[in-house]
Amino acid sequence: MTLPLEIRGLSAGYGRKTVIRGIELSVEPGEVFGLIGLNGAGKTTLIKAILGLSRAEGQATIFGLPYGPPAGRAQLAYLPEKFQPSPLLKGWEFLSLTLAYYRQKLDREAALALCRGLDLDLAALDRGGRTYSKGMGQKLGLVATLLTGLPLLILDEPMSGLDPRARIMLKDRLLEYRGSGKTVFFSSHILADIEEICDRIAVMHGGRLIFLGRPAELLERAGGVNLERAFLAAIEAADSSFETPPDGGSSG
Ligand code: ATP
Repeated sequence: MTLPLEIRGLSAGYGRKTVIRGIELSVEPGEVFGLIGLNGAGKTTLIKAILGLSRAEGQATIFGLPYGPPAGRAQLAYLPEKFQPSPLLKGWEFLSLTLAYYRQKLDREAALALCRGLDLDLAALDRGGRTYSKGMGQKLGLVATLLTGLPLLILDEPMSGLDPRARIMLKDRLLEYRGSGKTVFFSSHILADIEEICDRIAVMHGGRLIFLGRPAELLERAGGVNLERAFLAAIEAADSSFETPPDGGSSG
């Protein structure tokens, strides 16, 4: 079976600074996988490493292809954190251009359905990105990413900036995406969302992976009334077991 994502002994950083070390994880086809960790834990660095956007050593494959060359990325669509569309392009133009980057034609009916499915005002599609609120820009980026229909979605904090209704709608869209046998890998600080929709999660702390498994397993192992409490307990346990405190980014 070819895994959407398989990471073995991956370290990554910026310039001479290594910020994540020895990451080992694999993501199964048809799962929603959540990446969680405190600010600065290394989630975005890991995502950027997979995409070839930060300096990395070690092995990673995307559907069996090495992660460095562009061919490895052909099967995935990515939405960065704090996404904002171009202020100059109208919504429709942005969607067409994004799909063209993925060598796809825009399906306007599918786009309209997704806009409705994420509560994005359809009239906004005829307006320039500069008129969008933060959440509207995020929704347009999500529409573009979901429209690709690619087998793997990598989303960095996709819920940020969304109101509660849009967050619930996005969770439904992600579960639908999984329902069609595809894979979603995303980071988030909203642990209630993670607990609700993720099949498995990884907890990063101080640039390392300290937990990999089902949300229920983290609850069992770390204790706590909900995933947020279990997450904090796991972080505290990891801190007390480190020989030296994590520096979150020592050189090396
Ligand atoms: P957050 O939840 O705040 O988004 P994160 O888990 O995504 O955090 P990263 O953005 O991966 O964390 O940052 C991990 C470490 O890498 C931090 O110590 C940060 O200062 C450092 N870092 C991030 N981007 C750069 C960069 N471009 N150059 C140098 N260091 C960076």
